Amino acid sequence: MKLPMPALPYEYDALEPVISERALELHYTGHLKGYVDKLNRLPAVVSSDKKKLEELIIEGKKEKAKNLLGVLPPGEHTSTLYNLSAQVYNHMFFFRSLIPNGGGDPTGEFKEVVEGQYESWEAFKKRIIAKGKALFGSGWVWVCLDDEGQLIILKGLDAETPLVYRGISPLFCIDVWEHAYYLDYNLDRGRYLKLVIDKLLNWEFINKNMVNA
Ligand code: FE
Repeated sequence: MKLPMPALPYEYDALEPVISERALELHYTGHLKGYVDKLNRLPAVVSSDKKKLEELIIEGKKEKAKNLLGVLPPGEHTSTLYNLSAQVYNHMFFFRSLIPNGGGDPTGEFKEVVEGQYESWEAFKKRIIAKGKALFGSGWVWVCLDDEGQLIILKGLDAETPLVYRGISPLFCIDVWEHAYYLDYNLDRGRYLKLVIDKLLNWEFINKNMVNA
C-alpha cells in the first residue's frame, strides 16, 4: 500500500502574513512530503495491505518501546516507523488547527473550559507560549483535554504525539520545529507562537475535538 499525500486544507498563501507563502509551500512540499515519501518506502508500509496512519503510529510506538527495553536484536533498533508516521499525523493536525483569518478570542466549549480553569484566555495563552519557547530542540506544543476535562499543555519532543497516550485527547497543536518558523521569524519562536495563536487558530476544529474527546 501507499499512503496518499494528505491534502492541505487551504492555498499556500492563505495564512499570510503570519506564515508566508514560501514558508508554507516549503513546509508542505518539502518537509511533509519528505516524511510521506520516506514512510512509503518502509517495509512495514510497503508490505501492509490497508493500514491506517494511526495504526502505523501505534505499531511504531511499540517498536520504539522495544528499543528502549533493549529487546530487539542488534541492527534492528529503529524509531523510524514511529517518527515518520507520527510526523505525518502531527503535521496534518497542525495544518487543520489553523485557518485563514482565524484566532481572536476562543468560542464554544473550549472557551468555557479555559475560563473555568484559568483566570483568562490571555493567561492560558501565555502558558502555551512559554511552554513552546521552553521546548529544547525540535518538537510540538499540544493543547489537550484529559479524561477529567482538564486542559493540559504537552511539550512533544521530535515527533512525539499524544495519540499514543491514554486519557488525553489533542485539541490543537503548533509545530515548533525550526523549519516551521525560521524563514519568517528567524530565532523568534515566541513571536511566531503568539501570532499563530492570535491570528490563525481554528476554533471550529478545536471545538469539534472537544466534542470528540
Ligand atoms: Fe513541520
